Amino acid sequence: MKHTPQSTELLYSNNQTFEDGRLLPVMEHFYTLQGEGMHSGKAAYFIRVGGCDVGCHWCDVKESWNAHLHPLVEIEPLLEQAIQNPSGVVVITGGEPSLYPMEFTTEFLHKKGVAAHLETSGAYPLTGNWDWICLSPKKTITPLPEIYSKAHELKVIVYNRNDLVWAQKQAEAVRAAGNNCPLILQPEWSKREEVMPLITEFTMQHPEWRVGIQTHKYLHLP
Ligand code: SF4
Repeated sequence: MKHTPQSTELLYSNNQTFEDGRLLPVMEHFYTLQGEGMHSGKAAYFIRVGGCDVGCHWCDVKESWNAHLHPLVEIEPLLEQAIQNPSGVVVITGGEPSLYPMEFTTEFLHKKGVAAHLETSGAYPLTGNWDWICLSPKKTITPLPEIYSKAHELKVIVYNRNDLVWAQKQAEAVRAAGNNCPLILQPEWSKREEVMPLITEFTMQHPEWRVGIQTHKYLHLP
């Protein structure tokens, strides 16, 4: 799939718009427990940036898609606020964070001794220095090849049976890049009752995978 950002303003190459990452279109930010992936259940501060043109039809944060609904804000004071908790972790999620220059954010966090985690589809070039990268690839805009070697976990959302075949291809790409990271299958929330038996059976047949669920939704957390 061709990479076609919805607006040239969202291109990473247009660094001036974002003052080299000092300004970002923040949609929301909150302290909570991580709900998905290998860090599920651990406390972390989340910063969600707006803007995404990946277009997953089942996306549960569609209000994040239009970056222009989320005005650019100075990220430094927000990061100062984000580190005022004992978790020692800030997660940058979206939207699609790889649309923006992230070096300023990760440098800031590292100077303060805080871990920088990223949730991305890998659709655009990775910037910043991340302690943990959750790669959640999407069929609509597949990841750029270079992220397969950098991901710390591969998390594939399963909406239907075909997604399991696609998940295997994504796992092959990760392994071909020499990356032995954990592989996670996560049921899409609205289809969880339907696909969970498929995922369970698949995982028992392919034990290199593990099942992940959106624990924050069961716990009624953001
Ligand atoms: Fe939604 Fe994430 Fe897909 Fe973008 S990549 S449409 S934010 S699920």
